[in-house]
Amino acid sequence: MRTIRGVMGVCHILVEPDGRGAILLDTGLVGEPWQIRWRLRQLGLGPHDVRAIVLTHGHLDHAGNLAWAKTWTGAPVYAHPAEQAHIDGKFPYAGAARWCGRLERTGRAVLRVGAPVKVDVPLTEGDELPFWGGLRVVHLPGHTLGHCGFFSARHSVLFSGDLFVSYFLGAHLPPRFLNSAPELIPASLEKAARLGARFMVPQHYDVLDGALHRARFERLLARRSQRQAARARPAV
Ligand SMILES: [Zn+2]
Ligand SMILES: [Zn+2]
Repeated sequence: MRTIRGVMGVCHILVEPDGRGAILLDTGLVGEPWQIRWRLRQLGLGPHDVRAIVLTHGHLDHAGNLAWAKTWTGAPVYAHPAEQAHIDGKFPYAGAARWCGRLERTGRAVLRVGAPVKVDVPLTEGDELPFWGGLRVVHLPGHTLGHCGFFSARHSVLFSGDLFVSYFLGAHLPPRFLNSAPELIPASLEKAARLGARFMVPQHYDVLDGALHRARFERLLARRSQRQAARARPAV
């Protein structure tokens, strides 16, 4: 696995076990294309060795370079169908998330994001993708409706997208205005926990340490259940 650290988040190159190909997990926002090219070259791989572009979701910091990646590699794009509207810049943001829509519109104009790219392979819960020794699609809606994680049983790692972010102060949920369907987040947190992955790798973090992110995620869940318990306790 190789990390591509952009201005906002991290996207990943997952190299096939035989070393003969790789997939891109998200495409990043600014500065990633040259890093992706350079990393692949270091691995002795070229654009046509990229077997798939797999998206956790269609926010601009994950799909901003999608048009470039698709043109450069010709690889099929895998994403949940609900993410097409985000990729196209046409998602009808409502409530607090309208700010997310405003930010994205500005970002698309400033960065001259290329023409929208069609999702070639729509993902559904439980799909087993034939990459990296097997990646299971885990639908984790809430941040966006089609937000997906990818679970590798072989490596016991869950790539958790933007389900939570993990920095030195600990794990926390993305800010409220970035979540299109916040009411779905609690069930997605529980679902991710139930997988029992030893490692978790979100797409926004400080250091690449799957065990550390997993531990921070546990603490995030513990804090949430403590708060819920405190709320449920009758006032005296
Ligand atoms: Zn996001
Ligand atoms: Zn993000």
